[in-house]
Amino acid sequence: MRKLPALLFFAALSLSASVASGEESITVAARLEETVRALAANPTRHTASKDIAVVKLWLRDRLAKLDGLKVELQSYKSAKSRRLAEGVEVTNVVATLRGRTAPDRVLVVSGHYDSRASDVMDEKERAPGANDDASGVAVVLELARRFAALPAKQRPEKTIVFLCVAGEEQGLLGARHFARNARQNRVRIEAMFTNDIVGNTRAPDGKRVREYVRLFSEGTPATGNPMQQRLRRALGAEWDSPSRQLARYVHAAAARHLKGQGFSVKLVFRPDRFLRGGDHLAFNDVGYAAVRFTEPHEDYRRQHQDVREGFGDTPDHVDYEYLARVAQVNFVALRELANAPSPPRGVSIHVKQLENPTTLSWEAPVAKDLSHYEVVWRDTTAALWQKTRRVEGLTVTLKASKDDWHFGVRAVDKDGNRSLVVYPRPLRRERAAPSKKAKPKKEN
Ligand SMILES: [Zn+2]
Repeated sequence: MRKLPALLFFAALSLSASVASGEESITVAARLEETVRALAANPTRHTASKDIAVVKLWLRDRLAKLDGLKVELQSYKSAKSRRLAEGVEVTNVVATLRGRTAPDRVLVVSGHYDSRASDVMDEKERAPGANDDASGVAVVLELARRFAALPAKQRPEKTIVFLCVAGEEQGLLGARHFARNARQNRVRIEAMFTNDIVGNTRAPDGKRVREYVRLFSEGTPATGNPMQQRLRRALGAEWDSPSRQLARYVHAAAARHLKGQGFSVKLVFRPDRFLRGGDHLAFNDVGYAAVRFTEPHEDYRRQHQDVREGFGDTPDHVDYEYLARVAQVNFVALRELANAPSPPRGVSIHVKQLENPTTLSWEAPVAKDLSHYEVVWRDTTAALWQKTRRVEGLTVTLKASKDDWHFGVRAVDKDGNRSLVVYPRPLRRERAAPSKKAKPKKEN
């Protein structure tokens, strides 16, 4: 009986036609619980343990059962480090659902399947890692299942990689290997989400918080040359990195697709929790837009702790109905992004002369089902886009002054799927159209 109110609550949340029925939501929670319990049943998933090899094969086999996924093990030998007594093999389980029409545009969603005990070097102590991060891996498996289950014609236009990484607790090893490899191979990763610690709703003070999930994003990109840094400073664009646009995108997608369901995304404008890190940072570090999902209030008695009275990261402390909502947020954001056009290119604000109105222009992205564009803008002190203007062509002039507002442009397809927003660059010098009177200048 104790569980009934929660089930009814979440069943009521799930009545949206485009989403799952209440019954389905309960099934999702049950499936997530099964995955978390199966992962946590291993004595440990420490990256240097023998047990982790069993887990990677279990994950591979699970994903390989799904229709249309290509599943690979991506391994490398890590060096010995402060967190590893000796070099070990670190393996990522990589499941790829190839995009239907734009396979070279890639989205990545990850969780880390390694775990740790109180001592990060101890590869023998029990470490169930139910919330950190079997919860995130369970979300990744659930997303893989749902996208793979779509009929062929509804499969995403872009490629989605469902990624389970190891070595997170040893310094984001698996994620770094994947991200650097992708960068070297010029893989066009448009967005990356990591789900890490996404299942506990009981705050340390006993309060239950289950109405939202936090989403962390960097403001200042790790990459970029001095000129780009100077420009960011000059324009006050510290809140407009690609990762920040991705965070706003997820926030808006959740608000749109989960309307009236009592669940939202809380944006935190910081790369990660205070002085902490996660796998998305490995992607940020090589210049990809990447963000992190984490529950509202973490309980540190249940993270990185040996299992003992009052401590330990065990499956009983994961709220599976809540975890289902986190999976749903990932799903609606990924689905829209995976079917959206790529962002417009060359988005610029014209600065040929000093004037108050704002003229923007851009070039069309490669997209078959493009409908129109949207210019968005917001006050310089606002966190979220406040205004939207539909534009059919490739340029627009707005009364709103570029001095007082931040602008962005996105592409929209015929089904209403929106691309990520692009923050404009100043276009200082336009090539003046040749005047009729002017004679062509001879080159000396
Ligand atoms: Zn973690």
